[in-house]
Amino acid sequence: MPKLVSIAVPCPLRRGFDYLWPESLEQAPELGMRVSIPFGPRRLVGVIIATDVSNTIPSNKMKAVLKVLDSKPTLPPELVALGLWAADYYHHPIGDCIQQMLPVTLRKAEPAKEKPAQYWQCSEQINQLPALSAQAHQQRSLLSVIEQSGQLSRRQIKDLGYSNNVLNTLINGGYLCKADAPLAKPRDAQANKPILNSEQEDAVNTIFNALGRFERFLLDGVTGSGKTEVYLRAIEHCLARQKQALVLIPEIGLTPQTLQRFEQRFPGQVSTLHSGLSDGERLLNWQNIQSGKHQILLGTRSAVFTPFNKLGLIIVDEEHDASYKQQDSWRYSARDIAVKRGADHHCPVVLGSATPSLDSLHNVAQSRYQLLELRERAGGASAPSVRLLDIRNEALDEGLSKSLLEATTRTLEAGNQALIFLNRRGFSPQLQCHSCGWLANCQACDAKMTVHFGRRELRCHHCDASEALPSICPQCHNHQLIFQGPGTERLELSLKRHFPDVAVIRIDRDTTSAKGSMQSLVDDIHTGKPCILVGTQMLAKGHHFPDVTLVGIVDIDGGLFSADFRGPERSGQLLVQVAGRAGRADKLGTVYIQTHCPEHPALQALVNKGYQPFAQQLLAERRLFSLPPISFSAVIRADATSLQAAEAFLEQIRATLPNGDTQWSIVGPLPAPMTRKAGRFRAALILQAERRSLLHQHLHTACHIGDQLNKAQNLRWSVDVDPIDL
Ligand code: ADP
Ligand code: ZN
Ligand code: ZN
Repeated sequence: MPKLVSIAVPCPLRRGFDYLWPESLEQAPELGMRVSIPFGPRRLVGVIIATDVSNTIPSNKMKAVLKVLDSKPTLPPELVALGLWAADYYHHPIGDCIQQMLPVTLRKAEPAKEKPAQYWQCSEQINQLPALSAQAHQQRSLLSVIEQSGQLSRRQIKDLGYSNNVLNTLINGGYLCKADAPLAKPRDAQANKPILNSEQEDAVNTIFNALGRFERFLLDGVTGSGKTEVYLRAIEHCLARQKQALVLIPEIGLTPQTLQRFEQRFPGQVSTLHSGLSDGERLLNWQNIQSGKHQILLGTRSAVFTPFNKLGLIIVDEEHDASYKQQDSWRYSARDIAVKRGADHHCPVVLGSATPSLDSLHNVAQSRYQLLELRERAGGASAPSVRLLDIRNEALDEGLSKSLLEATTRTLEAGNQALIFLNRRGFSPQLQCHSCGWLANCQACDAKMTVHFGRRELRCHHCDASEALPSICPQCHNHQLIFQGPGTERLELSLKRHFPDVAVIRIDRDTTSAKGSMQSLVDDIHTGKPCILVGTQMLAKGHHFPDVTLVGIVDIDGGLFSADFRGPERSGQLLVQVAGRAGRADKLGTVYIQTHCPEHPALQALVNKGYQPFAQQLLAERRLFSLPPISFSAVIRADATSLQAAEAFLEQIRATLPNGDTQWSIVGPLPAPMTRKAGRFRAALILQAERRSLLHQHLHTACHIGDQLNKAQNLRWSVDVDPIDL
């Protein structure tokens, strides 16, 4: 009998492909090995997903594997199984799942040879050298970090926010020398550990007792309550058992401060995986975890697929964060996959957040997750006080109320910093003609163009189309064009006008897109001088601003009334996260929220009672209406060059599925909330079931039908299981 294998091939078909394993290949096939195969006219790289395959096709009709690309499997059996499970769960082609699990370099036939990284350490003659000048802050700071960490690579140093220049100066001055093997000489790594408070200690002990078996925890603690310290201690216990730890962080949550904390506590043991690395660096770090050379992986979404030598603990920080869910092609949730991996590895999974998702709170209510709470801010800091500012009928100055401006004045006079939050970048979200009412709309989307004043352009934030800012109305040629509503750029200008003597620092995608610019802005803030920070949700993640004592939230109303039932959950989380950036032990924070609907019950609950009661109230509403996470849902989306084509396609899928009953509902096809985007028309079919198995059964049918249907006018479609938006 000829030997057959099943291969995951990067193509849109939802199955593996059988190939002959020719005798001439001297190696035996193993699960997870990469092979080169003929596929139609092309040669592709595939991964073996089954080795004991039989079929009824005559062997002379079958294609054969051309070449084996690995001497030992790239993916361990556990990850092959995870890929198969996930392909099934997310109804996504297995070939694409497996491909996305691999580092980019390994998706090609010839892996790039990576030069081993050069590590640097303090030189022996350091004490004979002249001391660094007091002005050389960066150099002194880097030297002390390297001293504490033992050894660091150029890459790690860059990740910690130091420029190449700073490093080179130290090298050329003889302060640093090459370290031959990346072997850590921990010095004082344990010296600066704080004494845990009793809540932290309980949390660490509970996780410690779960090491070696699968258990799920929700670590619920406000920003600054010491969650990271709990992670660090739990990891310490895990490492003591000769096991590795996976720490997932949100997309822009990996700040130099975070990395530095891990690096200093566990010198020479941390690998990172994030979008700022080159393909070669990613491969190297991936391999360092797989081989067991490094013990801790700190990474963003796709790091959840890294093969571990001996995985013993999984942590998902800020588990509510939307960046854990991939929003195109394979729409997996890294948080949910992390939980699945914990089950596969029989290890505890800790989901941490100051604003837990309703999913996780529901899991706590169902006793699936164990709740660990940190109610106090670590080190005795108190929680900020929150006030709603009713701005109905108030004359606003570029979006800012008198009360907020006065509070800002007081804050600056007291020598503190203020943070003004508005989740809308650009100068103004809308340009209108005062004479005829013309609005600057995007040609390709159902959306307004945003005014970017500094660049003198109009830009669509949905398709990125741009055009020059007109000086007269294109419709009536009047000169009176008005900017409707503020964005962060406009707030910045207005605040500079009000407070000419202090720095106004804007943090949004426009001011931080250049490499390293975020860090230099943050460095300015950390000098502690009175200043005003203005920014979008980029301010809400990762960074702490200890000298900020006033947080002003310009506009929260949008999210509370969004078309998506998840709107209030998201707005509440964002609000609490922004508020949590402020204050520290000796500096009490105040939060002002401007709103047109101060009686809104969800907002009232949030302000008067806090996040947990707010979230429980939302959860009660979801229960009442049987919405997720009480029920299970999926969205089938289609887009085409006409709305009719997209809807007709979904209509045919709908026709093959049963009508709604008490267990099951199907809604649509409906036009998507923004129907036209980048020139394409979008529609959706929303499925919801009381039981997960029922949802998957119907999705299976839907995909089967969808695959067979004729697709008009470049129609594209996709399945989104456990969607986080409409
Ligand atoms: P979170 O991750 O919840 O935001 P962190 O772990 O970052 O909280 O802790 C916030 C700050 O408090 C950090 O500067 C940390 O070093 C400090 N900290 C944490 N635990 C303690 C403790 N038990 N005693 C004193 N300081 C602590
Ligand atoms: Zn006009
Ligand atoms: Zn557009």
